Amino acid sequence: MTQADAPAPPLSSIWSDVDPVAAFGCDYADARARFLAAARARGLDVETHVLPGHRGPAGEELAADVAVLGPATSPAALVLTSATHGVEGFCGSGCQVALLRDDAFAAYVERRGVAVVFVHAINPWGFAHVARTTEDNVDLNRNFRDFAAVRRNEAYLEIHDFILPASWPPPPEQEARLAAYLGERGAGALQAALTTGQSDRPDGLFYAGRKATWSQQVIRDVLRRHARRERLGWIDFHTGLGPSGHAEKIFAGPDDAAMLARARAWWGCDVTSIYDGSSTSAQVTGMLFNAALGECPDSAYAGIALEYGTLPMPEVTQALRARHWLAAHPEATARQRAAVLKLTRDAFFVDTPAWKAMVAGQARAAALQALAGLATGGTS
Ligand SMILES: [Zn+2]
Repeated sequence: MTQADAPAPPLSSIWSDVDPVAAFGCDYADARARFLAAARARGLDVETHVLPGHRGPAGEELAADVAVLGPATSPAALVLTSATHGVEGFCGSGCQVALLRDDAFAAYVERRGVAVVFVHAINPWGFAHVARTTEDNVDLNRNFRDFAAVRRNEAYLEIHDFILPASWPPPPEQEARLAAYLGERGAGALQAALTTGQSDRPDGLFYAGRKATWSQQVIRDVLRRHARRERLGWIDFHTGLGPSGHAEKIFAGPDDAAMLARARAWWGCDVTSIYDGSSTSAQVTGMLFNAALGECPDSAYAGIALEYGTLPMPEVTQALRARHWLAAHPEATARQRAAVLKLTRDAFFVDTPAWKAMVAGQARAAALQALAGLATGGTS
């Protein structure tokens, strides 16, 4: 009997003595230092992918860092990614560092015989510069698409002119148009028009890009080398949707009933789907999971976005508009700049001990569930 075949303890008995609050960094550089230290303390090699041509706000190197915990030749792997949406990495990085520091989690990884691939800050520019986009204004979770087959997004084009502020705060005329749109169509229509992803306006919000970003190339390379296994799970950490501190487990895969069933077998019946209206997310396109399907076509795959709530959606939307205005206006005063960056950080990261403990605990539970599912293929 191998270790992986041995009866596993119930998940509820695997307690952690890690202080989750101490795992979260105060900025990208601090978060990266914590990740590198935690990986090395665990005895792991770190593979670093440096983003060329860009630096952080203090001149620091920007990079995606990868560490693999558990057996390298395992037939199963769990990928954990942070900062797909840049600033959302404050949360995802903390969850990763808390898991790396967690002796009970590491013991459980060994026992289940599953490799855990930590990908820290896959969009380091956005994390460091407190933006949701990559260095080229791309929404990375819309970028994994067939660029030759992209169609115009008419719904976005309708709102582009008033959703992007001409000044900050936005002028009354733009706010009146936004209010009229909300009154006529409702918040759901605005969310769909705004967040689905668009390739028409490179200066716009939720821009999907017209080619594969650097971050996309890196994650594909990581998947090819570390994730081509019989079974593959993926948890991608996000923030900004839903009730504060609550993790929605949003199925991250194509509209495929068998794959959704596998995700629900691993993570529970509360896994939501953008395809049946059960998720708070709109039906977005070009998501990261396409890389798993493309690079690991023979793997039995299931994935989720773990989406943690922060502030109500109107406040998150205002923060996105403000950050976009700042990117387009380098002449902004230092005071304006600091105010917008704080607004953005607060919209995607609730910097309180209670919120950090909540999100780290739910990340841990989801990772343990994935390990149990991956170890058995979902039969127990
Ligand atoms: Zn996100």
